[in-house]
Amino acid sequence: MRRFYFDHNATTPVSQSVLEVLVAALLEVPGNASSIHQDGQLAKQHLEGARREVAALLRCDPKELVFTSGGTEADNLAILGFVFANNASRKHVVTTAIEHPAVLNPCRELERSGIAVTSVKPGPDGVVDPEDIRRAMRPETVLVSVMHANNETGALQPIAEIAEIAHHGGALMHSDGVQAAGKIPVNVEALGVDLYSISGHKFYATKGIGALYVKNGTKLRPIQFGGKHERERRPGTENVPCAVAMGKAAAIAHATLQLEPDRLATLRDRLERGILARVPDAGVNGAATRTPNTTNIYFDGLEGEAMVISLDLKGFAVSSGSACSSGAVEPSHVLLAMGLPKDRARASVRFSLGASNDERQVDELVEAVAESAVKLRKLSPTYTSA
Ligand code: PLP
Repeated sequence: MRRFYFDHNATTPVSQSVLEVLVAALLEVPGNASSIHQDGQLAKQHLEGARREVAALLRCDPKELVFTSGGTEADNLAILGFVFANNASRKHVVTTAIEHPAVLNPCRELERSGIAVTSVKPGPDGVVDPEDIRRAMRPETVLVSVMHANNETGALQPIAEIAEIAHHGGALMHSDGVQAAGKIPVNVEALGVDLYSISGHKFYATKGIGALYVKNGTKLRPIQFGGKHERERRPGTENVPCAVAMGKAAAIAHATLQLEPDRLATLRDRLERGILARVPDAGVNGAATRTPNTTNIYFDGLEGEAMVISLDLKGFAVSSGSACSSGAVEPSHVLLAMGLPKDRARASVRFSLGASNDERQVDELVEAVAESAVKLRKLSPTYTSA
């Protein structure tokens, strides 16, 4: 059966040209980038070339980038590495209730170490009000961490305004940019962030590679201990092939950022309009300013998980934000934080578009969603149409 992929916020497939440079790097650049012989120097050259390409995507100095194993490690390094290096007299962090677990859980770890964490809720549109961040700040706040784009709704956060508030209060600013980099133009300097995390597999590079932007002069402690790689910030033999793949993917994203976001937004809007026209008692969660590829839609009277499975059987990959814990489906913490009732949060599905999608696929998906909604609601003990 043909399959159509609408889950690009979970991960993206490696693009053909990224695959080609990855295979070439694996075959032709086998050295250790820390070795002084020619093979090592060649690997180092490729690593630094990749760093320049990723830096161009974020508009920073290549020296300000630390390669990591992905977004999770970049977030952990930013939060734990910065706070533990700077918390002598400042023991408070501000973050939000809509962060990815890669930020939520390091913050829990901070709490276990005696550092207070304030979690700010978004409005019903999924956007955090900078004034709520201002109110959460304390004289001892050391770091503010707010994601750039939410992975479930795509909602874009007012990072530049929040960074100004953080700096005004004497704190530094981290943003998890994993769902923004490669999807929308990012300029870390204009955003005013001091730390910014990205992940290769969200923009057509491989899994297992990411990077943390660390603004020049920012004091950071490593969170792993070993050799002196990556300017003593992240030990371990550098993953040159995957860094090269991420560099290529960054260059492609950089080159396509003129047109691709508009193409995706047009497709996303077509999907949204199509679904809302065909399916009653459905609506968009958090239709604020969003990444162009993402929509999150509730279907009252059915389980999002059931919709995901039904669409999977019809050949479409989508996702629900719910997490399965101890056999029960937990509604998404992001949608709950936005104030959705539990039932509606459980009835929600995320569609995230990408390079392979086109109008025909979108139209087929609309049809499949409409059919699935009718079928699932017939089975629902609670659904009665308005
Ligand atoms: N942050 C956000 C917003 C994400 O969406 C993800 C992945 O889904 C991560 C962090 C973690 O990135 P990685 O899978 O590269 O560890």
